Amino acid sequence: MADTFDLVVIGAGPGGYVAAIESAKKGMKTALVENRELGGTCLNRGCIPTKTIMHSTELFAELKACEHLGIHVGEASYNMEEIQERKEEVLDQLRSGIAMLMKKNKISVYEGTGSITSPHEVTVQGEETTVLAAEKILIATGSVPAMPPIPGADLPNVVNSDALLNRKKVYQRLAIIGGGVIGMEFASIYSALGCQVTVIEALDRVLANMDKEIAQNLKMILKKRNVEIHTKAKVEEIVEGTDGTLICRYTEKEALQEVEVDGILVAVGRRANTDGLFGEGMEISTDRGKILVNENYQTNYSNIYAIGDVIGGIQLAHVASAEGINAVAHMVNEKLPINMGAIPGCVYTNPEIATVGLSKEEAEAAGISVTTHKYAMSANGKSVLSNQERGFIKVVAEAETGKILGAQMMCARATDMISEFGTAITGGMTLAEMRSVIRPHPTFSEGITEAVSA
Ligand code: FAD
Ligand code: NAD
Repeated sequence: MADTFDLVVIGAGPGGYVAAIESAKKGMKTALVENRELGGTCLNRGCIPTKTIMHSTELFAELKACEHLGIHVGEASYNMEEIQERKEEVLDQLRSGIAMLMKKNKISVYEGTGSITSPHEVTVQGEETTVLAAEKILIATGSVPAMPPIPGADLPNVVNSDALLNRKKVYQRLAIIGGGVIGMEFASIYSALGCQVTVIEALDRVLANMDKEIAQNLKMILKKRNVEIHTKAKVEEIVEGTDGTLICRYTEKEALQEVEVDGILVAVGRRANTDGLFGEGMEISTDRGKILVNENYQTNYSNIYAIGDVIGGIQLAHVASAEGINAVAHMVNEKLPINMGAIPGCVYTNPEIATVGLSKEEAEAAGISVTTHKYAMSANGKSVLSNQERGFIKVVAEAETGKILGAQMMCARATDMISEFGTAITGGMTLAEMRSVIRPHPTFSEGITEAVSA
């Protein structure tokens, strides 16, 4: 007889495991099916490993540049094998934390590949085959790196982010195809180690979906750190060079150029992962691989929900978790608790980048009349005393009411401070209300007071 559940969740990333906990807390008998490790892309191949490695590489870069702060450490050096070992310890610790949460919430975890074999049935192919009967099913199978059809992309040392995150040897010359979030974070990691980095981006700027000034500033800062950025550039082919090197050929300004490197990272986006997910006769609607859902995260089968990277949209861990919580609320006929109107997006470069809500251009395109308020962090005491790069905080407010509509930040701790603006947008706060708050001195957050007063 099949094991029977109120909800079977397929995929234990930040979407799936958070939804499973929420479901159990609502009193539903819950199962979670995962064919790799608990924590999904985020914990095993995404957010956490990149930022763990980055923590080490940023510290290394700081140590190399701390003489003028009165600190003398001799010659700083790094060992990538040890950095990788520490990364594995961090991942192990966090995976154990999730396993404990599953146990505590009495969630049945099934190891294996889940496929939906009928609207109320998930078949798990693990060491043995198990059939789970499900009142409701939640698909949270995430995404995998996309690989464009570039000739030579299958050569050794042409890698995706999964492989580069596990590499114990450092490419001293790295080319990155794609100047999106992954591209920029790896450019930061490798340049902090003193490597030569070349970014090749198809559009007219890196981080193209963010405020233009962010891309301009980042390009200038990275240039000083040995990162060359080529935009409006089309990769033509990758061929083998001499002594195991690779040559990446690309067209820029109608001229064929090339760069010789030791490794190439391909980071041109991620595709929804639905491989082997649908059993025979299951016709779940998709659009270019992404599962289509309504505003309550229901697919064309009303008892089958989908959330996170597999539905496309904004592919971020906190978005997947929020969607999971909202989907579970809908399953138990509750109002969706999370406001999806103010989603923060962060890039963990140095300085950090964070945005939420509308930029000036987006507001104007939507026909909203706005005022913008900008503060240069070079005048912020904490930024000066802690030796930060140039940066800024920009705020977009509705002209008529002063209501906060968005913020774009590029400065130290931007990824933490952006939540003040998320709270302001969600709560409908105005510039004057944000100005009425006392922020401690000396802190980076004083820059927020200055920006909303500007
Ligand atoms: P995933 O995390 O992809 O989890 C899906 C899980 O489902 C996986 O464990 C997979 O093995 C499992 N699965 C798939 N199919 C099946 C099946 N049929 N049966 C059983 N199990 C299955 N986001 C941020 O917010 N901040 C960051 O700093 C950040 N950094 C990133 C860095 C990198 C290098 C990458 C690649 C991504 C990063 N992201 C970041 C994005 C973030 O990782 C994803 O948005 C997030 O993990 C999506 O969560 P999810 O639950 O939808 O899917
Ligand atoms: P992305 O969509 O952010 O960027 C891909 C870039 O590659 C785009 O700028 C695109 O124009 C470019 N591109 C596409 N094809 C190209 C080609 N043939 N040649 C040159 N350039 C090309 O995707 P990503 O950087 O791969 O990241 C995937 C997802 O992971 C993102 O959606 C992001 O949300 C998530 N992520 C988030 C974080 C974070 O939150 N800090 C970090 C890493 C990844």
